[in-house]
Order: sequence, then structure tokens, then C-alpha cells
Amino acid sequence: MARGDHLVISSGDAVQPFNYAVGLHGSKFFHELKENRRIVGIKCPACGKVYTPPRRVCGDCFVENKEWLEVGPQGVIDTFTIVRYAFIDPETGKQKPVPYGYGFIRFDGADTRFQHFVELNEARPIKIGARVEPVFAEERKGTIRDILYFRILD
Ligand SMILES: [Zn+2]
Repeated sequence: MARGDHLVISSGDAVQPFNYAVGLHGSKFFHELKENRRIVGIKCPACGKVYTPPRRVCGDCFVENKEWLEVGPQGVIDTFTIVRYAFIDPETGKQKPVPYGYGFIRFDGADTRFQHFVELNEARPIKIGARVEPVFAEERKGTIRDILYFRILD
């Protein structure tokens, strides 16, 4: 045995292929978006409230949520705004063209709201109660941008 055969050299560098950790529940949510174009939520065992995006603990009961389920993909707009003021999008570093819609969507089967872009379309105006469905990116990366926007159905 030569000298140094059992010597382990480590640089101490660690690979971190993400900007921040989204946690166990966020990871499952984004994995389902990316791999299966599926929206998932999690249900409180005490009150039955379904959270989308999922969270570990029910905010009302303070018990751990464990039952995963699929929600949507369709839902309704609970509230919205039309953004007309141009600013630099912190996610892209570029100015997003205005105007655009932004809404709080409640997926079918969920009790919480999910914030995202909503299309502006003269034939199907944005309004509270309008049914919507997500339009997925062809190439998904496991981020919120895997949903491009929500399309208004009625
Ligand atoms: Zn609860």
C-alpha cells in the first residue's frame, strides 16, 4: 500500500443548483408542475382545509398537513387587478409589457388562493368568478414560471 492511499481530499465546495430552498412541500409542488403538469394541494386532517400551494401546518388548527391530493387544474378568479404601471420584473430582470392581468385563483378542490398572471382578452374579460385554467410552458424547470399564465374560459 502506497503512502497516501487512504488520503481523502475535499475542497469543501458544495454544489447548490438552486437560489433558495422551497422546503419539502414546495419541492413536491414544483416537481408535480414540472414532471406531470399537475397542481397538488395538501389537506388539514382536522378541519379539511386544502392548501394550494401546500404548506406543512394548517394555519387555523396548527396541526401537520399530510394528505396530498390533486386540485384543479381549473379554478376561479377570486380577485384580480390589471397592472398598467411598467416596472422591472424581479424574476426576469426585464420590464414586463403592460397592461397585464394578475389574479388570485382558487383551484377546484382547494380552499386557498394562488397568485399568478391572468390573460387579458377582450372576448373573455377578466372578472371575479371567471373560470380559468393554467397554460403550461412547453419546457418546464420546476418554477412558478412553469405556468405561463391563466387562460379565461368563459
Ligand atoms: Zn385545519
